[in-house]
Amino acid sequence: MDIRIERSCKRRKTITLQVKEGAVIARIPQRISDRYVYDLIEARRDWIQTQIQKQQSRPPLPMPKTHWLSGEAVPFLGEPYLLSCNYDAQALKAWYLEQAKIVLVERTDYFATEMRLRPKQVIVKNQKTRWGSCSADNVIRYNWKIIQAPLDLVDYLIVHELAHIQHKNHGPHFWSKVSQFIENPLQCRKALHHFGHNLAFDLG
Ligand SMILES: [Zn+2]
Repeated sequence: MDIRIERSCKRRKTITLQVKEGAVIARIPQRISDRYVYDLIEARRDWIQTQIQKQQSRPPLPMPKTHWLSGEAVPFLGEPYLLSCNYDAQALKAWYLEQAKIVLVERTDYFATEMRLRPKQVIVKNQKTRWGSCSADNVIRYNWKIIQAPLDLVDYLIVHELAHIQHKNHGPHFWSKVSQFIENPLQCRKALHHFGHNLAFDLG
C-alpha cells in the first residue's frame, strides 16, 4: 500500500485519511509520529481496501462529445434537428449562435410590438448561469443555449425579459404583465429551470 504522510504546518488538530488513486494520504498534526499513523492505517485497513475497490470499479467519466456527423440529430427549439454536414464543437456552437440570433431577435421584435415595449438593444451571447437578463438601461441579453428549448419556453423567456423594461422586479405587476402574453408563466419558469439542468448540449 502506498502511504503518503503530510504534516500540516498550520495548527491542525485532527487526523484525516484519504484514499486517492490507490494511495493513502494521511494529513496529520505536526507532533504525531509516523508509527502512530501506520498503526492507525493498519486499524482501518478494511475501510481503506473498500475505498480502493470502490474507486477502481467506478466507471471513467464519459469524454465530452467533440464531433457531430452529418445526419446526427441535435436539439433545436425542442425538436431533433438533423445536421446536414459534419461539425466540431466550435462550429456547432457557431451554428447555434447564428440560429439563436435570428430566432431571438425576430421574436423579441414581435413581442416588443405586442407589449408596446422597446428594448435598447438585444444581445445573444454565451452566459454561464443565466438564460437572460434585462439591464437597468433596458439592454436585453439572451443565452444562445435557450435555442435548444421548446418554442413556448423561448417565448416565455423573451416576454419575461421584455416585461422587465416596465417592472425591474418579480412583483405581482411584473407577473400580471407576463401572463397577458404567456399562458402559465410560472409553469414555464419551472420548466426552464428544469431544462437548464438537463441541457443536452452544453458547448461552453
Ligand atoms: Zn426576471
